[in-house]
Amino acid sequence: MGRVSKEERMERVVKEVASCRQCGLCESRKNPVPGKGDLDSPVVFLGEAPGRKEDEQGEPFVGSAGKRLDTLLDRIGLQRGDVYITNILKCRPPKNRRPKSGEVGACAIHLEEQLGIIEPMIIAPMGNSAMGYIMRRYGLKRESIGRVHGRVFQAEAQWGRTTIFPLYHPAAALYNQKLYENLGEDFDTLRALLDREKGPID
Ligand code: URA
Repeated sequence: MGRVSKEERMERVVKEVASCRQCGLCESRKNPVPGKGDLDSPVVFLGEAPGRKEDEQGEPFVGSAGKRLDTLLDRIGLQRGDVYITNILKCRPPKNRRPKSGEVGACAIHLEEQLGIIEPMIIAPMGNSAMGYIMRRYGLKRESIGRVHGRVFQAEAQWGRTTIFPLYHPAAALYNQKLYENLGEDFDTLRALLDREKGPID
């Protein structure tokens, strides 16, 4: 049997997400939002769940938080096509309410498969929700995002050693200048981590 490419494996995940009925969110969403980007990316950015624009377009981070993310990527010489962006939940919760733990548990299989395909050097959970999931998943102590953002944690993933690098959520930085400055500095650190571990990726 020939080797199945990363693209084929991710295509399978995309189809699984589209037909997933493991929680009720598929009933209310318009489009599934599996994730998008370079399957060889050294970094996976992880948000909480799709919002209205993402639900309409079927792509992650295409609203105002996404524009902010684009600006931050640009700051470190990257475009969204250079990295992989996804969310904990692949379907929009009604009125953007917080994900329920049952939904997170049901959706985790898709994220696990995605991470197993990409095998990123760095996982960057953005905001409390994504950070909480990832810290728990890798047996790390969960603290507030204000305490852990911009810090480097090591975790043992199924593909080997990986770095967990929590960030503030770009939406939180929309109306808070200080937080936006912190986020920019953390992106500079991320650039340094990428350069140190693999050499420049641009
Ligand atoms: N916020 C998120 O957490 N994810 C998106 O895709 C958009 C906004």
